[in-house]
Amino acid sequence: MEIALRNEIPTYSGGLGILAGDTVRAAADLGLPLVGVTLASRAGYFRQELRDGNQHELPDPWDPSRWGSRLEAKVAVPVEGRPVWVGGWAYVHEGHMGGRLPVILLDTDLDENSPDDRRLTDHLYGGDEAYRLKQEIVLGIGGARMLQALGFSIRQYHMNEGHAALLALELMRRRAYAPEHVQPGDPAFDLQGVRARCCFTTHTPVDAGQDKFRYELAQRVLGDFVDLPALKRVAGDDCLNMTRLALNLSDYVNGVAKRHAETSRGLFPGYRVHAITNGVHPFTWTAPSFIQLYNRALAGWCHEPELLVRAECCISDQAIWSAHETAKRHLIDTVQARSGVELDAGVATIGFARRMTAYKRPDLLFSDLARLRELSADTPLQVVLAGKAHPRDEDGKRLIKLLHDHMQALAPAVRLAYLPNYDMATALAMVSGVDLWLNTPLPPLEASGTSGMKAAFNGVPSFSVLDGWWLEGCIEGVTGWAIGQADAASDGHAEALYGKLATTILPLYYSDRPGWIAVMKGAISRNASFFNSHRMMRRYVAEAYVR
Ligand SMILES: *Cc1c(COP(=O)(O)O)cnc(C)c1O
Repeated sequence: MEIALRNEIPTYSGGLGILAGDTVRAAADLGLPLVGVTLASRAGYFRQELRDGNQHELPDPWDPSRWGSRLEAKVAVPVEGRPVWVGGWAYVHEGHMGGRLPVILLDTDLDENSPDDRRLTDHLYGGDEAYRLKQEIVLGIGGARMLQALGFSIRQYHMNEGHAALLALELMRRRAYAPEHVQPGDPAFDLQGVRARCCFTTHTPVDAGQDKFRYELAQRVLGDFVDLPALKRVAGDDCLNMTRLALNLSDYVNGVAKRHAETSRGLFPGYRVHAITNGVHPFTWTAPSFIQLYNRALAGWCHEPELLVRAECCISDQAIWSAHETAKRHLIDTVQARSGVELDAGVATIGFARRMTAYKRPDLLFSDLARLRELSADTPLQVVLAGKAHPRDEDGKRLIKLLHDHMQALAPAVRLAYLPNYDMATALAMVSGVDLWLNTPLPPLEASGTSGMKAAFNGVPSFSVLDGWWLEGCIEGVTGWAIGQADAASDGHAEALYGKLATTILPLYYSDRPGWIAVMKGAISRNASFFNSHRMMRRYVAEAYVR
């Protein structure tokens, strides 16, 4: 549904889209024959403006003709019994290593369509249930038909989350046996043929988060594209569950971290769920000062990020610290320009930025303001925050407001800044410019998380609850630090957070610079060398695509 192609194309909402973008970028670097399919989302996700801590959502339209070329092909998809025409744009991703790879942006804004249908591909995750289902028809059915119309011969379809699962139904339709060949009791479809061509990556560790539609709505919107009794056998009895549909019609299914695969096996008993832990794209998520450093010391690191394992011994402490100071200076300038807050380059800086939503617990750091004030009086700290809340996530918006209230209450003892409109550029400035990357999700709700991996590429250690990727990435005191213990109750997390900051992390930062740089190097050599998109894509190819 979303692919974060570049900062100027605002068609992504968070980690899911960033991961899809990093998948495309890694495939281009590795020379893989892959084509991406997504929606044009002409209205953008939204531009976030903050007034007194209140989030205002402004349209963020973009012009596909500025970045892509119009596809000549058009295909029709069935919506409420009428054809809706789907055209699109070819965006060509030009990798920094010379790889080129196409991404198709589907677009219903065509003269052939009614005014309402023309707006179907405007709003990412916007509109009501019916709008959403129609978008998924465009993505799944329209996407498959567009690829065929353009002459692609597809060996494997990879569904990134359940949003694209109608694709598998379209493939079933293509693989229906001719009625005259079907004897009573015989299957009407080549189910194995479809399953062999599909793989599915699930991202949502809670049942409530799965994409579901009432059958009444599905029947009305999909019309005679589906045969309801047959659909119920693959998509669940009570509702059209896109996750179930994708699970049943894919031979290969995976979660995005080891723990997430385990959680998913519990959620979907009877399915084999593999684990391919996410990774981030090296060149995209490394600040210029570190790119220069790695280019000098570890030539070829972008193609083989495993080389970063050598950073520990092959790069001097002085060079690491100096590259970090450059990145930190850039962040301080960005914060000054965008929020007016003047940060201090000599003060330990904590970063926290991600989708603002309840399970990420952005307020955990602020659960005891007096304690935070005291802590900062002994060992100064400053905090940079950012993140958007989904327009309908009222809890998320309340959290943004709450963070602003805390910022006011803590001033001037603790310097704090909230950068508006979190996007790819802000993310890079933050993950590279802070000293410590904080993550406080409520387990087991963080399927993977990726921003801590981006921080690792810039020698920034993580301080995180043990959930998602951090269960695999945390080596205590070597790559960063854990908040609390794995599988322990989460009500002790605030205490654990303050305790470790006060007794371990901040003292190390201020009193033992070589010790601190050793952890920075640990993050690079042990985590960036592993949690990267190149390892991830090599595994997808070997295990999911070539079966
Ligand atoms: C990396 C990134 C995310 C995802 O961060 P998580 O740590 O996985 O929550 C979201 N938004 C932007 C802009 C990002 O760059």
